[in-house]
Order: sequence, then structure tokens, then C-alpha cells
Amino acid sequence: MALLNWVRGKLHIRAIQVPARLDRVLRYGRYVLLTLILFQTIASVQLWFGNYDPYKTIFGLDWLFNFNLATSWITYLLALIVLTASLFVERAWCRYACPLGGAISLLGKASLLRIRRTEDACKSCAICDKPCPVKLNVSTAKTISSDCIGCLACVDSCPRPGALEATLAPVWLDSLRSRLHRTHTTAQEVSHAR
Ligand code: SF4
Ligand code: SF4
Repeated sequence: MALLNWVRGKLHIRAIQVPARLDRVLRYGRYVLLTLILFQTIASVQLWFGNYDPYKTIFGLDWLFNFNLATSWITYLLALIVLTASLFVERAWCRYACPLGGAISLLGKASLLRIRRTEDACKSCAICDKPCPVKLNVSTAKTISSDCIGCLACVDSCPRPGALEATLAPVWLDSLRSRLHRTHTTAQEVSHAR
């Protein structure tokens, strides 16, 4: 897909910026496809989707040497949709449909590596957003989502010491911390009100 980014640059096509809320919703597409593949693979007792995988279709070059529209039109259509979408939306397949990315994201929820942004040290320059291969909004998040693949490109790019750091803490610890903080704040408010 880096090749498509290059092609887009050469053709001077401006990438569509997907609004953050829509981006969050569309990322669930990876889980939907992953579930469908697991379900179909178990039901048919054979690896399903291999014949439709756009990556395999495009780079396998079967379309070049054994082109057969009658039997493989769905496969070609899917590859064409992914190619077209990726020309206009950066890494469209990886962000919204890749089942492997969905599985990695699910595993990422258990990962100990977390990227944290410290608001006091951050100057909101958004430099860290640019190198992120999965297009996460690093510059506005406090703790980066489990979609992070841990490449640390954002941390390397940040010019402010201490603003962006990789720490070892699972994501559930964050929700536990914020829940405890909320409970503590509510308890304090109740005791002040008495
Ligand atoms: S570590 Fe890599 S994938 Fe994760 S937020 Fe930073 S740039 Fe993105
Ligand atoms: S690059 Fe560093 S300072 Fe700039 S927005 Fe990102 S975290 Fe903040």
C-alpha cells in the first residue's frame, strides 16, 4: 500500500481525511471481516477468503497470467475496490478491512506496551501524527488505542522531551485507573456536600 501512496503522490491526488468519529466506526470493519472468515472457515472446514484476498490477487499476478473473469469476477472486483479506495484514502484496506490487523488489534489490548502523551509537555504541533502507519491521531490522544502496532515512529518524531513516551502498562490498567479516579472524585464530592 506504500506503493499506492507513491502513485497518489505522482498523480497529485489529495488523500481524503476521514473524520475521526467515522474513522473509529469504520475500523470495526476489520473485526467484522475477521469474524466472517473464522465463521466461514469453521463451517466449511477449509481456509476461507484465501481466494478473495485482495493482496493475494494483486501481488500473486494470477490475474495477469490466468485471467478468468467468469470464475474470478468477485476476486477482481474486491481487488479493484481496495485499489481504488486506497488511492483516495490512505491505507484504506489496513485501517478498515484487514482481518489480520483486526486480530493484531485484539491482541494489542493485552499488550504491555502503551504510547502515552503528556499534555503538559506537548505543544500540539501534530508532528507525531504524520509518520503513524495506521493513521492514529497521536497528537490528541492521551493513551494511544490498541490499534497501535508499536513501531515507535511517533515517539521518534516528537521534538518535545517527555511529551510522548512508550511505557509498559496494559490498557485495562488505564480504564481501572480512570474508574478508581472517578469513584474517588464522586466520593469526595459526596463528602463535601454533607
Ligand atoms: S507507535 Fe507507531 S503505530 Fe503506534 S501510534 Fe506511534 S506511529 Fe502509530
Ligand atoms: S509531536 Fe510531540 S509535541 Fe508535537 S503534538 Fe505530538 S506529542 Fe505533542
